[in-house]
Amino acid sequence: ANRIIAETRQPIDFQGFSCRCGVSIGIAQAIGGDIDAHKVLINADIALYRAKNLGRNRYEFFSQNLQAEVINNKRTADAILAGIDNGEFTAWYQPQFCARTMELTGVEALVRWNHPTRGLLTPDQFLRIADDLNVVQQLDRVVLETALKDKMRWAARGVVVPKISVNVSSRRLHDEGLIETLTGLQIVPGEISFELVESIFLDESEDIVSHNLERIKALGIDIEIDDFGTGHTSIVSLLKTKPKRLKIDRQLVMPILTSLKERALVRSIIEIARSLDIETVAEGVETLEHAARLRALGCDVLQGYAFGRPLSFENFTEAATAATWRLAS
Ligand code: C2E
Ligand code: CA
Ligand code: CA
Ligand code: CA
Repeated sequence: ANRIIAETRQPIDFQGFSCRCGVSIGIAQAIGGDIDAHKVLINADIALYRAKNLGRNRYEFFSQNLQAEVINNKRTADAILAGIDNGEFTAWYQPQFCARTMELTGVEALVRWNHPTRGLLTPDQFLRIADDLNVVQQLDRVVLETALKDKMRWAARGVVVPKISVNVSSRRLHDEGLIETLTGLQIVPGEISFELVESIFLDESEDIVSHNLERIKALGIDIEIDDFGTGHTSIVSLLKTKPKRLKIDRQLVMPILTSLKERALVRSIIEIARSLDIETVAEGVETLEHAARLRALGCDVLQGYAFGRPLSFENFTEAATAATWRLAS
């Protein structure tokens, strides 16, 4: 199998163009009584699917574990579609604080699934499948609409939440109908921020992505680069997209107390951002020591377990009205 894969990777000359192909291989064996040819092919197909999912140009063997996983994924996929129709998805909120004044500057909305039998599920239990299934953009839409509704409920209760950040998947940013959907919503400029992962900015050469980015900004929605420091965003692409905010990934934030390397990195990210007039948000701020260090480095906004975990609307509202939270510094 390795030889086939290596051979097919050689570029082929096609009418003067150099073409590259690739091959992924799934292998299933007919063992013992299990010699139904149709079944073997299905099993090989399952293994092939896995090979493609693991990055293509490789081979994988079929196994019972793999089969169980495929069945499980299929069930989850069907349940996600049903769950969207049944209103089982909602947003939880994690507070963000100004590093200097320790006032609440906003929240990040995070999708949660109130599963009818499995209870409350977090994104790691369903988001990848939702993405594979091409429905992650529907979840993003539900979260944004929920956030806008909750914002009005907070206003009615006298809770001030200046800004809500929502995560936007690459699929949603590629959606031709995105702007039309957004225009139909009541969005006050500056109150909503879209968190986009770095890799999306690499797609900016695609017309639809840059078109959507421009229109999103025109609607008064802030653009925020999420998980900064884990991908390949160059300073040049940063300059081009002019995001409002940069969110430093927790993989860089968490080691800053013990590792000089990460601390230096975080320091220079904050300095560059500042010189470009871009706000910095640190995620994964787990202790007050981290908070103090980040404040000293000039980080603008802090988010993490040190200040609060994601909470349901009701619990968030309660925490935000409690005197203790205002004294959180
Ligand atoms: P993310 O955007 O990096 O979101 C932050 C995640 O870190 C959240 O997990 C949050 O609970 C967790 N977190 C917050 N503070 C701390 C901390 O101090 N320490 C540690 N170790 N973790 C902390 P969650 O809610 O499970 O979300 C996981 C990921 O799922 C998010 O990572 C985001 O990539 C994705 N996601 C969440 N909601 C949505 C959504 O509505 N749409 C899309 N497309 N993706 C979403
Ligand atoms: Ca995020
Ligand atoms: Ca993040
Ligand atoms: Ca992250």
